[in-house]
Amino acid sequence: MQMLNQINDIIIAPHFNLSEFACPCCNRVMLHPKLLVKLIELRKILERPVYITSGYRCSRYNQKVGGVTNSYHCIGLAADIRVKDTNLIELLDYAEEIDFNGIGFYEKKNFLHLDVRPTKRTRWRE
Ligand SMILES: [Zn+2]
Ligand SMILES: [Zn+2]
Repeated sequence: MQMLNQINDIIIAPHFNLSEFACPCCNRVMLHPKLLVKLIELRKILERPVYITSGYRCSRYNQKVGGVTNSYHCIGLAADIRVKDTNLIELLDYAEEIDFNGIGFYEKKNFLHLDVRPTKRTRWRE
């Protein structure tokens, strides 16, 4: 049905569409405004496309991709990103500048996990 292809197809910021944050298995989506604001800020200083490789995840999808239980992805507080023509170390510096509360550095898989968790500042590497 044509209508369903349009679900979540909403421009929420100059360089972001809500559909990019939706769960790939069910199209459900949760997105905290604080996370979006920080991603907009990051996009602005990078001046390059920011790809959301994983945004909201329903619990079933989170299990499928091996996410931790109670992942911040499941409550709309986290996004994994990749940026064109930018190495991960450089990207990490920018993310630190914006001070995401949680930052995961995934060297082999080549992405950054960013979140706005309400608890204390957390950094990890994999
Ligand atoms: Zn899902
Ligand atoms: Zn993540």
